[in-house]
Amino acid sequence: MDNRSEIWRRVDEVKARFIALSDRVWGMPEICYTEARSMAEHAAELKHQGFRVTEGVAGIPTSVIGEAGEGGPVIAILGEYDALPGLSQESGVAEHKPIEKDGHGHGCGHNLLGSAAMLAATAVKDYLAANKLPGRVRYYGCPAEEGGAAKAFMVRAGLFDDADIAITWHPGSWWEVSPPLSLANTRADFVFTGRAAHAAAAPHLGRSALDAVELMNVGVNYMREHMPSDARIHYALLESGGVAPNVVQARARVRYSIRARDLPGMLELVARVRKIAEGAALMTETKLEVRIVSAVSDTKGNTPLEEALQGVMEDLGPPPFDDADRDFARAIRATLSPQEIATVWHAIGMKDTGVPLADFTVPLDAKRNPMIGSTDVGDVSWVVPCVQVHAPTVAVGTPFHTWQIVAQGKMPAAHKAMVQASKAMAALAIRALNDPSLVAAAKADLKERTGTGYVSPIPAEVNPPLDMSRG
Ligand SMILES: [Zn+2]
Repeated sequence: MDNRSEIWRRVDEVKARFIALSDRVWGMPEICYTEARSMAEHAAELKHQGFRVTEGVAGIPTSVIGEAGEGGPVIAILGEYDALPGLSQESGVAEHKPIEKDGHGHGCGHNLLGSAAMLAATAVKDYLAANKLPGRVRYYGCPAEEGGAAKAFMVRAGLFDDADIAITWHPGSWWEVSPPLSLANTRADFVFTGRAAHAAAAPHLGRSALDAVELMNVGVNYMREHMPSDARIHYALLESGGVAPNVVQARARVRYSIRARDLPGMLELVARVRKIAEGAALMTETKLEVRIVSAVSDTKGNTPLEEALQGVMEDLGPPPFDDADRDFARAIRATLSPQEIATVWHAIGMKDTGVPLADFTVPLDAKRNPMIGSTDVGDVSWVVPCVQVHAPTVAVGTPFHTWQIVAQGKMPAAHKAMVQASKAMAALAIRALNDPSLVAAAKADLKERTGTGYVSPIPAEVNPPLDMSRG
């Protein structure tokens, strides 16, 4: 029985509604924990498709879960729908043209991500029902991937405890199994409180919180020489203590992002940064408060799932682009620098063939030089065997978090790529539902990689930072 062609037919049967959903979400870009309208669109479609729907899980009002089927293994399919600030941009033009000054935009393609994930879940649901098979498929609508770590809070709340495998995808330049590499990342605010004074008349009475921030930064910058070379630390000054140089700054706040190769390494690094902050407080006679804002873990790969997914993606091949798709991609490509284009070829270890849109499947053993950021999919991958598709929704070389991503986010090429991603995810889900040995091998692989097990990087007292987008 060829169940792949059946599942692909089921994706095609319902895809139109999900392309429309993706376009609607593109048109209502909402950032970090403010995705009320986008979530409502997702919840409404889940209900329309007959899923059992739970809104607002893990203390996050803009999250939603839809489940279908009975008994059997539980397949988790993860979606997102958050946008980015400052990236407002018209669709289908190859020049920077904001719709709204300082408006938001879907600069990471999450309008496609969420909708295609739900399309895959819907096709799997329909397949289970038509074939009267046991098994459950669950769509996780996860907000605030950009900096809010919603999935890490959802993992901490136990929402993945009974899932057997997790599948997701991300838009990009290539048709490939996503290299399972991302850094663990903690965002923390260091708040220093001193004492205000007239900086000329009574300087000896003042204790400067701004001095403390500066000394902390100097200390951290000296530490860089003595940390693992794949760790990353960056900071932003959120409160400098005021605009008057003649008032000793009584309060200052600096936000740090502390990234490391893996979860234990990150926890060690956070402890070292904390010591430096304590030292700065000691030197300046200020008081220090450390607030963890959010945190995510590194991503664990899964060899059995990656190999199975690679097989599915090679059978499917890249999305069926046409000349019009390639023409627009060439126009976008003309706005990119040669370095930007070279960087994505370098990432898969291949030479630039000049194609405007990916026309091949990247081999699993490509000599990759991946660009490594952080994602909250990491926490899911520590507790459930997890695998990710990359699908080419954009012209080869388009850097993420740019107006060029927004401009391509509801074009026909993006629609084709999101449908292809759905087909890959749905076919892998069917394979796992029909083959208990694949799920067992995936679980054994995860166990080997996670050693002593998962400890949430988010302290128990920290709640989802729902007001984060307000600073
Ligand atoms: Zn993204």
